[in-house]
Amino acid sequence: MKLKILTLGGGREVGRAAIAIKRNGDEHYTLFDYGISFDVDDRPVLPLSIAPSKLKAVFISHSHLDHVGAAPFFYISANPLIYMSKFTAITARLMIEDLLRISGYYLPFEFLELDAMMKSVTTFNIGDRFEVGDVSVDTFNAGHIPGSTMYRVEFREGASVLYTGDVNAIDTKIVKGVHSQNLNADVLIMEATYGMYDHPPRERVEQLFIEAVRGVVEEGGIVLVPAFSLGRSQEILALLAEKMPHANVYYDGMARDILELMLLYKEYINRHDLLEKATNIFTQVKDSGMRKGICKEGGSIIVTPAGMLKGGPALYYIKRIYDNPKNAIMLVSYQAASSPGRKLLTEGVLENGGIRVKAKVFWFDFSSHAGASDLVNFVKHVKNLQKVILIHGNEDAIYSLGYRIKEEAGVEFAAPQIGEELSIEL
Ligand SMILES: [Zn+2]
Ligand SMILES: [Zn+2]
Repeated sequence: MKLKILTLGGGREVGRAAIAIKRNGDEHYTLFDYGISFDVDDRPVLPLSIAPSKLKAVFISHSHLDHVGAAPFFYISANPLIYMSKFTAITARLMIEDLLRISGYYLPFEFLELDAMMKSVTTFNIGDRFEVGDVSVDTFNAGHIPGSTMYRVEFREGASVLYTGDVNAIDTKIVKGVHSQNLNADVLIMEATYGMYDHPPRERVEQLFIEAVRGVVEEGGIVLVPAFSLGRSQEILALLAEKMPHANVYYDGMARDILELMLLYKEYINRHDLLEKATNIFTQVKDSGMRKGICKEGGSIIVTPAGMLKGGPALYYIKRIYDNPKNAIMLVSYQAASSPGRKLLTEGVLENGGIRVKAKVFWFDFSSHAGASDLVNFVKHVKNLQKVILIHGNEDAIYSLGYRIKEEAGVEFAAPQIGEELSIEL
């Protein structure tokens, strides 16, 4: 059979993942993810459009907005089948609600369409196998964030496609590394965010982070840890609960709500014991009065979104702590090129007015994406592969990884651009 793979988004770019596949001659596509990205002015950008009447089903890999943020678009005029793991479904709603509050003006859909989408969702437990029309679907842990799912779709003829979404190979406090046992597929569609780069060992990063935090706290400074609300914030809290249980730790913003959800869905969390400990010993920030008090309290640690300092309570705190060299801002998330976090890191200034920051600024590599060598290793674990399609990475990362895969795993790769439709004979 001939397989068609249409890249609607995420082709040679990080963001707005959207890949549609079908057999040659089929009327309907199976769609993996439908996310958004942000332009330089921070406005949401959707993938190329596809009529919902052309969709057989949509499979969402995880609840980051670059994978699910544009999906309500289909529910303006139709009601396509959509699948998510249980944890992805509950967190996707929170993430998209937040997106609508901040950027709703620029989006073609509203809360109404989000509601319609959530009513159409079929949820599953990771590891489940089910049928959708004439394809069978297997689901596996992708290791990226809680709920993140890899899909293996098998056609009637026996040909199969494995879609990774975002993956991480190592166990973190929050989620166990990607499932890599007994996998087989003809085609692998894989992310390539860090196609040119290997991360330092996680234990080393954790150790350096804890040493840096201790140093500031012992001097009586305040540590601000701006972190993504879903995943990174809770990972930092789990780490602090393990290594610094007597510290004065506060957590704020959406990180708080998602922590509560993680405790309700423990089966998705690796070290839920540490998260439980964190909620017992650390303090939730409940209102602005409390925020004010914390900023006067030397020796405290504040974990709060947003990870790139684009919004959230982190902005409130940073204005109150930046001017004191005893304090520190510890960035633990990826900092996009045009983000305020990157500006702080490279130029040492705050975005508004370019005010110079006197507090210490650090960055730690707590990435939730696999590094290049781990991605090559993962490819080696997938049996019967004929082709790897690399997406969700910039051009350099994709080609660097592609050539390594060809050389080390002996598998051909393709690097589709947005709008390109590949045709693969299987
Ligand atoms: Zn992600
Ligand atoms: Zn992503």
